[in-house]
Amino acid sequence: MRVPRFGPAGKPLKYKGKIEGIPKYLRERGLDAFEYQAVYGVKIKEEDAKKLGEEARKYNVKLSIHAPYYINLCSTEQEKLEKSIERVVSSVQAAVWMGAELVVFHPGAYKGLDPSKAFEIFIKSLKEIEDKISVFKEKILLGAETMGKKNQFGSLDEIIKASQEIDILVPVIDWAHLHARDVGALNEPRDFIIVLERIENELGTDVAKNLHCHFTRVEYTQAGERRHHIMSEEDFGPEFRDLAEAIAETGFISTIISESPLLDEDALVMKQILIDVLREKGLLRHS
Ligand SMILES: [Zn+2]
Repeated sequence: MRVPRFGPAGKPLKYKGKIEGIPKYLRERGLDAFEYQAVYGVKIKEEDAKKLGEEARKYNVKLSIHAPYYINLCSTEQEKLEKSIERVVSSVQAAVWMGAELVVFHPGAYKGLDPSKAFEIFIKSLKEIEDKISVFKEKILLGAETMGKKNQFGSLDEIIKASQEIDILVPVIDWAHLHARDVGALNEPRDFIIVLERIENELGTDVAKNLHCHFTRVEYTQAGERRHHIMSEEDFGPEFRDLAEAIAETGFISTIISESPLLDEDALVMKQILIDVLREKGLLRHS
C-alpha cells in the first residue's frame, strides 16, 4: 500500500540553513513533504522560490504553501475582501514559482453574518480568484482548510459544498480543527473513516485519494480550538493511531502535514505509527 507523504508546517525545528536546503534536510530524515508558511504575508522572492522548487523536485519532496492567516473571503467590507483575494492570488504566484500544486488557506469568519450569506460571498470571491489566476498556465489547486473555531467559516459541510461548486477548490482536512470545532468529535477510527467516506461520496475517489491533511494533538474549549500539543502529550486528542487505522482501511490521503509544535520531529512520530499499523495489518512488506 502507498504510504502518504509526511512533512512539517514550516521550517524544520532545528534547521538553520537557507530555505532551499530544506528538501534535502527532510529527505535525509525520511520525510517527503514541506508546507511553506506564508502565514504572515507572501514575502518569498521569485529567485528563492524557484531554488526551493528545484531542490524539492531533486529530492522528491512535495511542496504546498499555507497562505496568510489574514484572509476573509466572506467579508462584507469591500477593502478587506479585495485584500484577502489579493493574498490568495499572491500565494498562487509563489506556488507557480516553486512548482507547488496546492495553496492552503483559511476561508474566513462569519463576523455575525448568516452562514448562508457568508457562503454566498465565499463562492463569489473564489470565482473572482479563479478568474485572476487563469493567467497562470500551471494548474494550482486551492485547499480550503476545515476550521477549528465555531465563529470561523469552514465547517466540513461548508468546505465540501464549496468544493462541489468550484472546480479548483479541494478540502484540506485539519483533523485537529474538526476535533476541536465539534468539541472532541474524533475518538475512534470509525470517526475518521466517516469523514473520508463522505469526501469520497461527495467529491469523488480521486479527491479522497489525493487528500491533503494537517494533524496535531489539540486542546479545545466549547468555542473550539485553543492550542496545539506535541505527540507525547497523550492527554490531548485526537489519536494519530485512529487516523492511521482509517488510512489503512480506506487507502485515502496523499499528504499529512504535522502542525505539532515539534513539526518535523512529530511528523516522523506520526509516520512511524502509520508504518507500524500498516505492518500489523500486513499491508506493508518488511524492508
Ligand atoms: Zn491552517
